[in-house]
Amino acid sequence: MSTTATLAPAARPSFDRLAALEPGLGRLMDEVRALRRDPPPAFCAMDTFFGYSTRGDGLKRRLSRLAGWQAANPELISSDAYDVAYHAVLNALPACAAGCMCGAGGRAEAS
Ligand SMILES: [Zn+2]
Repeated sequence: MSTTATLAPAARPSFDRLAALEPGLGRLMDEVRALRRDPPPAFCAMDTFFGYSTRGDGLKRRLSRLAGWQAANPELISSDAYDVAYHAVLNALPACAAGCMCGAGGRAEAS
């Protein structure tokens, strides 16, 4: 195993470090922060991330082109980069709202 200068094998990269190498990750996180500020009605974190209602066209698909084995930037081609980015984005999403499609937010109140 050779040691790269940018990502030491023993230390997982921080999300900020990854975002510095791949600006697309920072833009993705900006979108997540905007969702936190103003989540749409019946927001579903699972649908937004995994793209259940859009045939997989969720944040996860975009993320996988930015970090991990399909990353455009060779410095982010690693399972650590993928794991860090995956959990950072998923954890930053707002919670599911009532009436969301996965059901985690509970049932919408009848109006
Ligand atoms: Zn949900």
